[in-house]
Amino acid sequence: MKIGAHVSTSGGLHTAFDRAKAIGAECVQFFESAPQQWGTARIDDAGVAQFRETMAASGLAPAFIHGKYLMNLASADAKIFKTSASTLRSSLNLAGRLGVRGVIFHTGSHKGLGLEAVFDQICEAATQVLAETPDDTWMIFENSAGQGGTIGSKFADLGQILKRIDNSRAKVCIDTCHAFAAGYDLSSSEGVAAAMRELDGEIGAANVAAVHCNDSKAPLGAGRDLHENIGEGHIGRAGFEAIAAHPVFADVPFLLEVPGYKIDGAGKGPDKPNIDLMKEIRDGVAAPAAKPTRRR
Ligand SMILES: [Zn+2]
Ligand SMILES: [Zn+2]
Repeated sequence: MKIGAHVSTSGGLHTAFDRAKAIGAECVQFFESAPQQWGTARIDDAGVAQFRETMAASGLAPAFIHGKYLMNLASADAKIFKTSASTLRSSLNLAGRLGVRGVIFHTGSHKGLGLEAVFDQICEAATQVLAETPDDTWMIFENSAGQGGTIGSKFADLGQILKRIDNSRAKVCIDTCHAFAAGYDLSSSEGVAAAMRELDGEIGAANVAAVHCNDSKAPLGAGRDLHENIGEGHIGRAGFEAIAAHPVFADVPFLLEVPGYKIDGAGKGPDKPNIDLMKEIRDGVAAPAAKPTRRR
């Protein structure tokens, strides 16, 4: 289980790796460009070569692109829907050029219509995009907190989408904060075990491509997407110990998207203290063979 983070790419996509290393990340996620605006990153072949060299030299892997927040494959607005599908396609094409594992994205919102009303539209668009993008990239659907009709708050919803698409490149990313806010009690080992049984039954553990590792400011089932630093929210340290110890996640990259500790008034995103804490949790629960005389 690698522990990594979402980092800025200010100054060029290749700068993600130095920033990730500086905070001790072992894997990385980034936006290709401003996530609140349409338009994909323009990067020429020299830039791609520089990115690939920097990535290889850093030893950090895997890397992921986080898709645009504006994308909504469930939109009833034809223009937004088309732009969403073409943006997902260009992001996956970019992932192929850069040699990163894939694109993690929010499916979108049905805005109250219900998943059934938009299910065909989502699955057909995803299938089409998969047909037009590189075979070695993954299209990774992220679970939601369920706010405002966002798709994927229930593992069964994501599982249905994956089954219908029926393509081994379609995967999921589980955001721990979103899952908790959607009612999966990840704050205890019993809760984690129950949630993972459901996840394995509905989605299949092998389809989990990444975890967004975030504590939750909002309580269980609040349906609100509010990330908190590891151990400072309602999931808490015990919850992350249970998550790190669960076999479903043994080989899954963890990416922190936490606010960061407040040093000069405001947190600046995932930082070394959060990563160090998550590594300490991982190493404490997941390496019994290396520490046979460990005492508690
Ligand atoms: Zn996300
Ligand atoms: Zn979130």
